[in-house]
Order: sequence, then structure tokens, then C-alpha cells
Amino acid sequence: MKDDTDSSDPAEKAKKKKDKKEKKKKEKKAKKDKKKEHKRKNHSSENETPLKRQRCEPESSCTEKEVSTRTHTQQEETTADPLAQYNRNNPRPLAESSSLLKPEDKDTDRCVTLLLFYQYVEPVWNEEQYQEALRTAETLATSHKLSGRMRVAREGFNCTLTSKNRTDMYNFCQALRDWNDVFYKTEFKFTHDLPSAQAFPQLKVIPVVELVHYGLEGRKAPPIAQYSGVHLEPTHYHQKLAEPNTVVIDVRNHYEAVIGHFQPPAATESGEAPKYIDPKMRKSTEFPAWLDNPETQKELKGKQVLMFCTGGIRCERASALLKYKMATDPVVKDLGIKGVYQLQGGIDKYFKEFPDGGYWKGKNYVFDKRFSHAPLLKEEHVPEAKPDAPISSCESCGKPWDKFRGKQRCYTCGVPSLVCRDCLESKTKPRCDLCVAQNITSKREWREKEQREIDEYEKRSKARGVLLAASHTENPNNVTRLFLKNMCRKNMTDAILLDFLPGITHLVWKNRAGEFTGQGWVEMESPEAAAAAVARTGEVVLGRALHIKFDPPDGKDVWPPPHSKV
Ligand SMILES: [Zn+2]
Ligand SMILES: [Zn+2]
Repeated sequence: MKDDTDSSDPAEKAKKKKDKKEKKKKEKKAKKDKKKEHKRKNHSSENETPLKRQRCEPESSCTEKEVSTRTHTQQEETTADPLAQYNRNNPRPLAESSSLLKPEDKDTDRCVTLLLFYQYVEPVWNEEQYQEALRTAETLATSHKLSGRMRVAREGFNCTLTSKNRTDMYNFCQALRDWNDVFYKTEFKFTHDLPSAQAFPQLKVIPVVELVHYGLEGRKAPPIAQYSGVHLEPTHYHQKLAEPNTVVIDVRNHYEAVIGHFQPPAATESGEAPKYIDPKMRKSTEFPAWLDNPETQKELKGKQVLMFCTGGIRCERASALLKYKMATDPVVKDLGIKGVYQLQGGIDKYFKEFPDGGYWKGKNYVFDKRFSHAPLLKEEHVPEAKPDAPISSCESCGKPWDKFRGKQRCYTCGVPSLVCRDCLESKTKPRCDLCVAQNITSKREWREKEQREIDEYEKRSKARGVLLAASHTENPNNVTRLFLKNMCRKNMTDAILLDFLPGITHLVWKNRAGEFTGQGWVEMESPEAAAAAVARTGEVVLGRALHIKFDPPDGKDVWPPPHSKV
């Protein structure tokens, strides 16, 4: 093709120049329009101010199905929202978003969008799929410029991410769905207009054994698809909270529960009033033992059980564990529990549905940089809002206080300390209220108590032949080869070791010189079995405390040696 500059006819030249100019102008306008459209789309959800949104009153006839159809219709109507486009034809809406700002008080500093989501995968990914999942997590989050934490396990994803561009966020979610269909089931939850300081500085993809550390990994995990509780949308859950003969279990840790929790109505027309229960856990690993405690079981007898947590993920295994026990443990079967329900989307979603807080009292502890948040109409920075007075107090001086700040922790058990600004400055070192109540005065006492409770639970479970929940160790690299030492040289046998450590597939006793020196190497059937074995290091066999550690093959010799199969 002939170049413009080569044209010798001046008239043609002028015409071309004019055409070019006009073309440029048109392009510029189109670009501008596109930009405008983009801007409009991006901010469309802010036009619907949550402050003006009517609270959705519970209707006795409203079923779960109706609730979900209604939500869907609402989203269909707001066609300007890019989400509506994503959500069409999707079994679960990509996002249910909320803005913290009214259109008139736009603050340019509030530009961060927070995304919370989790997804369990059943059956769990094999090693190859898991490696691909880790790579994909990193690639997709990086290419969409997201920061935050992605916990990735063979059982799925659990993520807290931030971005300054919400469209990037939506595209990231869609990319996840394009990669793996399982994410079409995921509920992605967004919170917009957070201060820019709340963006995570970097992205961390963290390989984990369990998404929530319950000590219920691998074979010990009751399948969620089979045993999960009934998921209730916030409106329906709200109704249930007011029903008689109901217990509401807070499956979060105690330090989260102290600053805010559900408070169901104190009386009902008939039957026993619903009751809120805080299991007073320092970690989720205490849940299986708590659930197994006769005191707990007395509370659950004949009741319908509601569970809740921050985003919903902790209820998944917790409710599955209870339902598994209802199906397999004769003691729990006899309790006559009338159904297990869990709050879909967690407190986070309930707040979005009930901006005045509904049955919630106080703050909601969160694991991102907000530390905690309140229902919209009780948020301190929201105009016209009426924040609740703290329902908790400073662990040091006792004055009303509900803000976790800094990295101060209980010096005996290590949970975050709730101390007021003055006490934080004076550098007092308080113990948490649990340690005070349980009279735990040192780290050692705490560790002993923790171990004792797990041991007792395991003993009881073993005796009844039901599910075990041992303490366990993270095994991020999925090592299956273990090194064992300090075994009894005189009396240790294959049979004793195999009985002690289930899941051994290969066993090498002797060193290169062909003698048994109390050491050995084993290959385990799975990374979970290996982690469970390592967690038992220090347990006594034949009078000696066994040392067990991961020992990945160095590649020099064939591992496992074929003759070593047990
Ligand atoms: Zn204080
Ligand atoms: Zn403590």
C-alpha cells in the first residue's frame, strides 16, 4: 500500500489530512465515551445506597428457594452493574456487593475492594492437581494485580484479597471459574470503598493441609457434601434465630466472640428461648473435643442447632462433624438433635442483609486490616449511624473496650489481647479472660492443658470406635518419607510400629552397615498420614519417646526401595 506521505497531489493530500483529522476526532470521542461508560459501570453499585435499602423482614412463608430467586431478580434489574452480566446464567451469583459510602460523600481515599471467598473440593485434588492449583492461584492473582492471602490446600481455596480496581477483582473471579468449574459454586463476597491503607501490601499464596485447622485432615475429615448442615440465607437464618428450642453455636474463637455475637431474643411465645453458646475455644482444633464433651451434649439434647462464623467456612467442617457424629456415634445419635443449620456467607453476609445489625450485638472480628467491623448503621465512620457501646472490656483495666490493636498477645496462651489504648501504651501484659478463669499462669500450664484435653478426647473416641481428631502438623511440601529414631533396639518389631503408625507402606530398619540402631525410615501412604505421624513425635513406645520427622528423599537412592514394602 502507498504511504500517505508519498502522495503527490496536493488536493488529495489535503483531503486525506482532513479525513485523518476527523478519524482521530471520532476515535477520541469513542474512547471518551468508553471511559465514561466504564466509570459508570464501575460506580453503579454505589448509586444504590445501602442506607436507603429497606431491611428485609422475615416472612414466615419465605422459603430458601424464594429467597434465592428474589436475590437473583434484584441483580437482573441492575443491568448497569457489570456483575449482572457475569451473573446471568450462573448457578450462584458471582458477587453480592455492598458499598460503605453514600454517593454524596465520596472520599477518594476509600478505593479498596475486599474479596472474601472459600471453596471446598471433594474429592480432594491429587498431587498433580494441587500443584496446578497453587500455580494458578499465584498466576491469576498476580495478573489481576491482587494482594492478600490465598490459603490453598488439596481440599480447596480460602482467600482474603484486596484490590484498588474492582473490575480486576470481578475478572479474577471469572478467570477462576474459567479455570475450574467448581468455582461456579463459590460465593464471592465483596466489600467496596475501604480506605486505601487497608489494601494488603503483597500477595501470599500459602500451601496448607487444611483450609481451617480443625485437626481433621485427610481420612479424618467427615465429607462435607455428605454431612454438611443446611445452609440458610441470612433472612431465613434470622427467622430461625428467634425459634424456641434452638441453640446457636459460635464456631469462632473466644477472643472473636467477646467483642460481638448473635443475641437471640430472650423469650419466645412457646418452648424454651433460643440460647447462644460460645464454646470458648482458643483455636478451632478444640472444637471436636468441645463437641464431644458431655456438658456440651447436654446443651444440644433435643434442640435444633444453628452455627455461624465470620464468612461461613468454619461452619462447613464443624456442621459436618456434628452431623457425622449424629450418624455414627450412638451417644450423639441419642441426643435427638432436630437439624443442623449454618449461616450461608457468614456474619459478613448477614450484615449486608441487616444493616441495622438484626440480632447481632457488638462488633464482628475480622482477619483483614479492618480488625473488626460493625453492621453498616452502627459503623463509626458512617453518617447517621449509631454505633453500639462495647460489649467487652479491656483485659487489663476493665474499662469498656472492643478494639484489637497492635500485636499484643496473652503471654500464657498467645491469643490476641484486648487492651485499651492507655494500657497498650503502659505496656501491661495481661492474660486473656480464659487464662484468668482457668487459672492458667504459664505457657507450660497452657500447653499441658491443651495436650491433656486432646489426649482425653482421643481416648474416649478410640474407646467408642468413632472419628478421631488428633493434633497434627502442617505438611506444605507433601512429604511422605519420614525418619524415625530413638526406637527400642531390643524389642521394636514391624508389627508394633505398624500398629502405632497407621498408613506405613514401606519400612527400612537397617542402616548401610545392615544393623538396627534404633533408627529407621518409612514411606507413608499419603501426605496427611505423614503429617499425622509427625504430629505424634514424642509419644512413648516400648518405654522410649519416639522421634518422628519429615525426611524427603535426596534422590541419591531409589525411594522407596522395592523390597521394603510392608
Ligand atoms: Zn485498659
Ligand atoms: Zn490466654
